Amino acid sequence: EIIKTGWNLDNSYARLPKSFFTTLNPTPVRSPKLIILNNPLAKSLGLNVQELQNNDGVEVFAGNQIPEGSLPLAQAYAGHQFGHFTKLGDGRAILLGEQITPSSERFDIQLKGSGKTPYSRRGDGRASLGPMLREYIISEAMHALGIPTTRSLAVVTTGEPIIRETKQLGAILTRVAASHLRVGTFQYVSKWGSVDEFKALADYTLKRHFSNVEADENRYLSMLKEVIKGQASLVAKWQIVGFIHGVMNTDNMTISGETIDYGPCAFMDTYDPATVFSSIDIHGRYAYGNQPHIAAWNLSRFAETLLPLLHENEDQAVKLAQDAISEFTKVYHRNWVSGMRAKLGIFNEEIQDESLIKDLLSMMQKYGSDYTNTFRAITLDKLEDTVLFGSKEFAQWNEMWKVRLGRQQQSKASSQQLMKNSNPAIIPRNHRVEEALEAAVKQGDYSVMEKFLDIMSKPYAYSSEQDKYSTLPPPSTCPYRTYCGT
Ligand code: AMP
Ligand code: MG
Ligand code: MG
Repeated sequence: EIIKTGWNLDNSYARLPKSFFTTLNPTPVRSPKLIILNNPLAKSLGLNVQELQNNDGVEVFAGNQIPEGSLPLAQAYAGHQFGHFTKLGDGRAILLGEQITPSSERFDIQLKGSGKTPYSRRGDGRASLGPMLREYIISEAMHALGIPTTRSLAVVTTGEPIIRETKQLGAILTRVAASHLRVGTFQYVSKWGSVDEFKALADYTLKRHFSNVEADENRYLSMLKEVIKGQASLVAKWQIVGFIHGVMNTDNMTISGETIDYGPCAFMDTYDPATVFSSIDIHGRYAYGNQPHIAAWNLSRFAETLLPLLHENEDQAVKLAQDAISEFTKVYHRNWVSGMRAKLGIFNEEIQDESLIKDLLSMMQKYGSDYTNTFRAITLDKLEDTVLFGSKEFAQWNEMWKVRLGRQQQSKASSQQLMKNSNPAIIPRNHRVEEALEAAVKQGDYSVMEKFLDIMSKPYAYSSEQDKYSTLPPPSTCPYRTYCGT
């Protein structure tokens, strides 16, 4: 009898010009073991949760078996890394194919940590358990927070050690994405492909993500505008929740508008636009407050690749691209203000709302307030225990805010409900993430992570069991640091 795991793979990317990728299998591993499986995600993909946990299922997550219908490949791409253009590609990832779900949606299924590829450069093609679980936790938390993101389907350990600063457990993450098309994919084909190849990429992207504008007179310009809109919405959501991506290189910016690459990311605690967690971001290029600016910079690189398709006259093409890019700042700002209004329980729009928001933020910065907990406290109307809430300035602001809320028709109760839906009671706090990873990696105890994932799956629930996850860690002398590519 045939065992039905439910893989239903297509390989549309493999039908693109051969220079876009290299077909190759994952490198087999010694003794794979399933560490975590995302049951709800598996089900929504049309996969059989029971069968996936059996040997045959795990062998697929390990790269030891190729599921029926898969045509494994590593994608080529390029990217500006900290502003410097480089040839890149999947150095430790393999695309198994695109899962067609029961509702006819298409998702990339990618193994990350699956061995060397022609794009590995000096890397070993592998990943270690801690960082793969970290991506699993944070990407799923982002999803629960309502922020577009790649998802995590499973993590397996390989049974093989990998060498970093210390010896670590090898692991493979199965990543699920609307696609892995990046700004860097366009940069790669624009730089090293032919005009026909570039057109093939653009048309493929239109068909896959922007079929709503495929019939437009200038469909490439429409696509550029759609990508700009998607990123303006995404980055506004990051800012509103206090998410710091940490490595916004153009290869880490998707065309679909999903957050990708959870290497050095972290959530901001104390409100400060200069916040940086990544150990390698010495100049703060990817600091919290700089993220919208960097997004616009990356989108300009994307627009440059499209110039030949935007207009036959180069000056005209540049003009169209510039006009589209200048929309980013406006759309981003609109998204940001409306998201921040909701955090303050405001339904209707007034011009002065922006200064009300900014006044609160600058007080938070002045008094070193925790970003999430400040909004949590005003949502719950529990203004206790912080220097900010004890200050005269805040009392004045609070008065103005109350008056402002009075200038809308909605009741106090519906205003508070809006705040509860817009201000997470909990975020994946750095010390909680570390605690879960330490138990998993050092003790082989996955219960802390599982509990944490469960808690993080309903960030707007305001349930009492979440309370202890909102508390801050004891003061520490060394700042929290994150790392790329481990
Ligand atoms: P990132 O900084 O995570 O966006 O990765 C940048 C590039 O380095 C990508 O092309 C990755 O595939 C590659 N890379 C990261 N880690 C490894 C590794 N251990 N082995 C091979 N390539 C890697
Ligand atoms: Mg990356
Ligand atoms: Mg990475």
